[in-house]
Amino acid sequence: MDDIRKHHQETQCIHASLKSDETGTVVTPIYQVSTFSFPDVDHGADLFADRKKGYIYTRMANPTIESLEQAVAVLEDGYNGLGCSSGMAAIHTTLTAMLSAGDHLICSDAVYGPTTTLIRDVLMRFGVQATFVDTSDLDAVRKALRPETKVLYIETPGNPTMVISDIKALSGIAHKWGARLVVDNTFMSPILQQPLKHGADVVVHSMTKFLNGHADVVAGMIVVSSEEDYKTFRSVLDETGGVIDPFNSFLVSRGIKTLAIRMQRHCENATKMAEFLGTHPLVDRVYFPWLPSHPNHEVAKRQMNGPGGVISFELKGGLKAGKILMNSVKFHMLAVSLGGVETLIEHPASMTHATMGSEARKKARITDGLVRISVGIENIDELIEDLERALAKVKASTKSPA
Ligand SMILES: *Cc1c(COP(=O)(O)O)cnc(C)c1O
Repeated sequence: MDDIRKHHQETQCIHASLKSDETGTVVTPIYQVSTFSFPDVDHGADLFADRKKGYIYTRMANPTIESLEQAVAVLEDGYNGLGCSSGMAAIHTTLTAMLSAGDHLICSDAVYGPTTTLIRDVLMRFGVQATFVDTSDLDAVRKALRPETKVLYIETPGNPTMVISDIKALSGIAHKWGARLVVDNTFMSPILQQPLKHGADVVVHSMTKFLNGHADVVAGMIVVSSEEDYKTFRSVLDETGGVIDPFNSFLVSRGIKTLAIRMQRHCENATKMAEFLGTHPLVDRVYFPWLPSHPNHEVAKRQMNGPGGVISFELKGGLKAGKILMNSVKFHMLAVSLGGVETLIEHPASMTHATMGSEARKKARITDGLVRISVGIENIDELIEDLERALAKVKASTKSPA
């Protein structure tokens, strides 16, 4: 389908990935091979010289991987995609392709934890300078600009408070400065947000989350907006080697077939759950971009087609209440990660950030009552009942003497 880019995303989800072969397959098969043979020496020489199109070696290109790259690039309305072995491999490849020693990077202070660590503990060792700011504050971003600033890196919505950064305004600031804007679009998927259309230069995804959607793959994707970037990024990815493999590409391509309808249900369910939590007496605060009380609600409505499936909230009663809630839910599985069809719940103070201690957590702005839910596509009434039951247990326990 040559004109697939003109079609609706629901149609693109089904048709954008197809690379059929002479047998007429209706989905792209798994080309589970490391290397491709050449009919003769001249053909091999032409492939290496880029005079002919074809396959050489799977780290460089593979039909199953290409079909997924094509699908995500179409959905993001970008030039092309680069499939990576994880979201972190996509972020690492992107930043090493765009930055050199002496360059300066401005990064949202609310990005995914390992992204911060990658910048601080790896890139900065190689002479990259970085400043972390609240990128929902445009003045803070302007103040952080330096003559060496080459990249502005944001994640929106940002964890855990769902803070929203204005993609269009930030791309304007970056471009005026001669810098480029990278957006981690993992929380939204291209169905809910297309950063390139708002002026971003590069989009990265952890496909582990919504794009695959079934909690059975770790993978990443970069979508670039020009041929020039594509060539630079492809060469860095070839040489650093963090490529996705054919089997995982097949699984993610399969996940993408239902992306549009999954995102619709995630949004519906999460909105109902956020409304329920917002009225519950044991909940102090709900972080969800579609609630009018959200501080960046206006920007969210402008650049997002839906709120997504992730909700954070502050539970009254801190650590103890959080632990009881976690141990009382039935359909909410206790796990990190997000974006799958199953609902997951996480309480950082008792799980991921338990060893940090209360004081260090406070500094990192992780309160003891903070809970995150990645709302799945189960029946929402049953999910809310499950939460209601668990919250009743929290209430009962806080009444009894400690
Ligand atoms: C999970 C995640 C990543 C990292 O992705 P992996 O596939 O786990 O490497 C990056 N950014 C965001 C926003 C994420 O949620």
